[in-house]
Amino acid sequence: MTTNAQTATTGAEATPAPAAARDVKMIIGGEQVDALDGQTFEVLDPAHGHVIARVPLGGRVDVDRAVAAAQKAFEGPWSTWSAAKRGRTLQKYADLVKRNQEELAQLESQNVGKPIKSARGEAFAVSLVFEYYAGAANKHFGETIPTSKAGFDFTLREPIGVCGLIVPWNFPMNMASWKLGPALAAGNTCVLKPASATPLTAIRLGELALEAGFPPGVVNVITGPGGSAGAALAAHPGVGKIAFTGETTTGQEIMRLASGTVKNVSLELGGKSPNIVFADADLERMAAESPYAVFDNAGQDCCARSRILVERSVHERVVELFAEATRKVVVGDPLDEKTQVGSLVSQKQRERVLDYIRVGREEGADLVEGGRPPEGHGYESGAYLLPTIFDHCRADMRIAREEIFGPVVAIIPFDSEDEAVRLANSTPYGLSGSIWTRDVGRAIRVAKGVKSGTLSINSNASVHTEAPFGGYKMSGVGRELGMHALDLYTETKNVFLDLT
Ligand code: NAD
Repeated sequence: MTTNAQTATTGAEATPAPAAARDVKMIIGGEQVDALDGQTFEVLDPAHGHVIARVPLGGRVDVDRAVAAAQKAFEGPWSTWSAAKRGRTLQKYADLVKRNQEELAQLESQNVGKPIKSARGEAFAVSLVFEYYAGAANKHFGETIPTSKAGFDFTLREPIGVCGLIVPWNFPMNMASWKLGPALAAGNTCVLKPASATPLTAIRLGELALEAGFPPGVVNVITGPGGSAGAALAAHPGVGKIAFTGETTTGQEIMRLASGTVKNVSLELGGKSPNIVFADADLERMAAESPYAVFDNAGQDCCARSRILVERSVHERVVELFAEATRKVVVGDPLDEKTQVGSLVSQKQRERVLDYIRVGREEGADLVEGGRPPEGHGYESGAYLLPTIFDHCRADMRIAREEIFGPVVAIIPFDSEDEAVRLANSTPYGLSGSIWTRDVGRAIRVAKGVKSGTLSINSNASVHTEAPFGGYKMSGVGRELGMHALDLYTETKNVFLDLT
């Protein structure tokens, strides 16, 4: 790839020759299996347009098979395992993920188009999540309750049963681990369904679960389209819980499908998170760090700070500093070590983002940077897009309200703290956000005012393995990670004993 006039790029050498596509299998009841009807679909490397794998196109009957295997495992020896044994096996799982970190990272980078460096960090994060729940397995317990009626009252935390885990394509292995970790720690069995575009690391995680020693049927992985395989899982009467991460509209459909058998449902959905910048903030630091808060993973991040709300007195300065830092973001081949922003997940996703860029122009926002694919040799075959900045946006513009899920940020000036909070809350979402100020009182006031499940002050961090993560409003239901996630995967049973 040649150097682009606007944004830093990497060299052409990294573009790999197409390797032969691999045939991979689903995992049901501890076996590697094809779809019952033998159908398959192709999985692409979006940065180069190559077919990298053929994957079983699972359907309703395959979901039935996977749920039956998970039910059998739930009722089998797995139900006699102590919490400590589940924890020890999760620790082995964590160790195996660490040992296979490079392979998982390569698979994820190739399949999603994300930079190899990011993928390595994500694989490591998966091992940390399993390690956390290895320790948590025997630390989630019930209570004794002083009831009015004389007696002894206590609660038990019990696994729900078969959990359907449906995950998206932007962080495939991380989203799988956020669900597998607590579900297994609590004693459930799982049917994991990755997004059709990005099934490879989920399948590998299924294989590693067997190697770690989870009994056959405890972790099953089915591959196939969301509308058929995913929908069959969400509606399946043998499934007690659905944990879903994906688009808000899909989450709404999942709720409807799960309502037939009144399943326990947790949802991690879309976002339009604000980056709120007050005039007294460390503007240099904010501007240097913030491009990664929105352009990381090519903007395909539910926590992306895709709106910058900036106090009017420093508006021009922040735009200048932020644009300067954005020009330093290295866009290039995902497998190049220097790359910071790789390809989008597909040409279809890039088209969707380009549509939003057209809409932004039509709505009258000022395009400051990007707005188009990078030019040069090596970019033609991939779904690349330059980091894009729109300034002078209004809260009612579509680019400032809707989740674009690409490398696009909308900048909106504000005049007061109250207006900043009002703007922050002006979308249907409430997932994440940052507040930049040196005034501690203001930081806390604004944090209390913003309706969002996760906020960071003078930081871009959204995700901590040990802390709850999830959304307000149309960003979701329930909290993943930390000890909170164990609540999503357990029933609470109250038992009263009459002592008379
Ligand atoms: P998506 O909703 O298209 O797909 C997510 C999963 O649902 C996939 O496995 C898909 O096959 C399946 N699916 C699709 N239709 C289904 C149906 N009718 N029934 C059952 N399953 C179905 O989402 P995506 O495009 O893969 O991911 C991007 C979205 O995920 C964005 O909106 C993003 O904000 C969101 N996301 C949220 C979080 C979070 O924690 N809040 C994290 C990552 C991604």
